[in-house]
Amino acid sequence: MLSAEKIDAKTCLSVVRIKGMMTSILVSLLLFPLVSACTESEHSSEGVNGHRIVLADREPGNWLSHGRTYDEQRYSPLSEINEDNINRLGLTWKYDFDTHRGLEATPLVVDGMMYVTGSWSRVYALDATNGRLIWQYDPEVPPEWAVNACCDVVNRGVALWNGAVYVGALDGRLIALNAKDGGVLWSVQTTPTDRPYTITGAPRVVTGKVIIGNGGAEMGVRGFVSAYDAGDGDLLWRFYTVPGNPEEPFESPALEMAAETWIGGKWWEHGGGGTVWDSMAYDADLDLLYIGVGNGSPWSRQLRSPGGGDNLFLSSIVALRPDTGEYVWHYQTSPGDSWDYTATQHMILADLSIDGAVRQVIMQAPKNGFFYVLDRKTGEFISAEPFVPVTWATHVDPDSGRAAVRPEAYYGYTIFDGRPSPFGAHTWHPMSYNPNTGLVYIPAIDSNFPYKLEEAFEFLELGVNVGIDGAAAAWPVDPDIRKAIRQSMKGSLIAWDPVAQKPAWTVEHKTSWNGGVVSTAKNLVFQGNGEGNLVAYSADSGRELWSFNAQTGIAAAPITYRVDGEQYVAVLAGWGGTMPLVQGGALTHAANKNVSRILVFKLDGEESLPALPVVEKPLDPPENTASEEVIERGMVLYHRTCFACHGDTAVSGGVIPDLRFTSRATHKLWDKVVLEGLLKSGGMVSFSRILDKADSYAIQAYVIKRAHDAKSELSKAQNNGRG
Ligand code: CA
Repeated sequence: MLSAEKIDAKTCLSVVRIKGMMTSILVSLLLFPLVSACTESEHSSEGVNGHRIVLADREPGNWLSHGRTYDEQRYSPLSEINEDNINRLGLTWKYDFDTHRGLEATPLVVDGMMYVTGSWSRVYALDATNGRLIWQYDPEVPPEWAVNACCDVVNRGVALWNGAVYVGALDGRLIALNAKDGGVLWSVQTTPTDRPYTITGAPRVVTGKVIIGNGGAEMGVRGFVSAYDAGDGDLLWRFYTVPGNPEEPFESPALEMAAETWIGGKWWEHGGGGTVWDSMAYDADLDLLYIGVGNGSPWSRQLRSPGGGDNLFLSSIVALRPDTGEYVWHYQTSPGDSWDYTATQHMILADLSIDGAVRQVIMQAPKNGFFYVLDRKTGEFISAEPFVPVTWATHVDPDSGRAAVRPEAYYGYTIFDGRPSPFGAHTWHPMSYNPNTGLVYIPAIDSNFPYKLEEAFEFLELGVNVGIDGAAAAWPVDPDIRKAIRQSMKGSLIAWDPVAQKPAWTVEHKTSWNGGVVSTAKNLVFQGNGEGNLVAYSADSGRELWSFNAQTGIAAAPITYRVDGEQYVAVLAGWGGTMPLVQGGALTHAANKNVSRILVFKLDGEESLPALPVVEKPLDPPENTASEEVIERGMVLYHRTCFACHGDTAVSGGVIPDLRFTSRATHKLWDKVVLEGLLKSGGMVSFSRILDKADSYAIQAYVIKRAHDAKSELSKAQNNGRG
């Protein structure tokens, strides 16, 4: 008889299908050894493997891989919690992280254990029934590496395979841990350490290979995805997403083809971008691995490829052979991407009935605002319609499948009012496809952005290199205008019908940066939001059924799992990530101190959260002695160098220090912090490579001015309050 571990996922899948089709006693007898081997492995002591993930619906209590199943539907068949009893859902345990930065991870749960990542790529193994810490692992990412992260020191989760836990660390390492005790099994550096690469995405494991991408296109890197042997960490293949110097040999025929779409310029000198920083999916039947490719570096095509061209494989979905990394097909969502319109967003595989035929599709709602349905076997375009208002393209041509880009969208030195913004119409926040309703639930954003080339763009060796005029893109400082802009930015949960290509229902949120989604068999959709609530809705109508105040903004996606017959709902609550850093005050109603926690709920859960500590922030800036010219120069330098972490116009989102509240004592140490790295242990490295003493002084003068602005706004508000 075949042993369980010798039967691969495809064999088990075929067995299940054949068994479903044929019921004769003879066939059942013939298949018996295979069937029992497939079943036995559900409780294999070796842990998660390929056929457990392919057959994940046979153990719905577990959440074995990032999207629960290889098709990444994030739909749970669990049914104990339903519309009738959800009012009994209560907190049953919480786990407080020891960090206060952004949380974006999806926890995995197998056989009563939860494996999850917090900020700084730290890994935690917890008892999934009560939150007891079994082990934790800190990869000790150097804090100064944070300057290479465009979008906070976040991590979106681990992968499990044959008794190991895999995590991608912010500094580019891929680490395998023993699932039992967190001991390091192996660790490899997946990225060049002399370039600003980061890893924030969750690895996937398919056919014994750990697949991992990376980020860094905002800084200047060349994107690629790699496969490592899950057993020993050997590099098996690497697929680059953009061509290198055409004078040198191409790594693959696919790149030779891609190079035809880059015209003029020397994009390879700083990498060209195209990072695979988040989404992947896998079809075991078709033996295809799908990767989502990110934006160009710098953002504008004019700076990379001044002669035009599509710049493949930027902003594309690419299908690869998982065993070799060989290219099979691609579909580009944003030709000649100039808007940070990544196609790294969540990809979902499903079988849909379209025009009377069942189609095997891949679906994506990338940053560019269109919802795409493609044939996942061939990459053939099926349909695309905008799910939010868009200004960069008029439509996607139904015959060619190509976006009709408005010529003015390829902006120059005058502002193009782009919609969506670089935050996307939808970014990494996971969606969910519910086969019962046939709907895809999209955490959507509607916002615009003034795209304008930076005058005399020069590539800097530290920090952000997007080639955008950051000062022009900053919000005006007038508090009333800021408020109006914030109100014009909309966040919503859209239940999208992928066949009809239109919304079935929409819930409008009060903030634009909201959480990922899970849906269940019992007509439930769970989503956290920027206001700090975890909410359950009816999957078919969007009616609000239940909510819980988490005391802090939620961006991560919930999961649901079952242990000993009891169903749980879990979510990571904690503010951070791109928008909260850049556009301060996106969070309007949540905590004044970021709290980072895992929250877990079950029916009749009786726990509650302690009251939040109130943090008083004194606003006591020194006198401003600098000239108007110096302050103006500081404003420009600030928006080139500092805004990505400390927020535009020096208004922080509450995760990273708001510089306006810098004390007089700290102002005396300003140059030591900015030029000498006094606070590098907190992630604030020395910027002496790109700023001199006069620059540092100018930025300080601008920050002091903004502190005085805030002080006068505050006293005006207090006077109004008295009046
Ligand atoms: Ca980007």
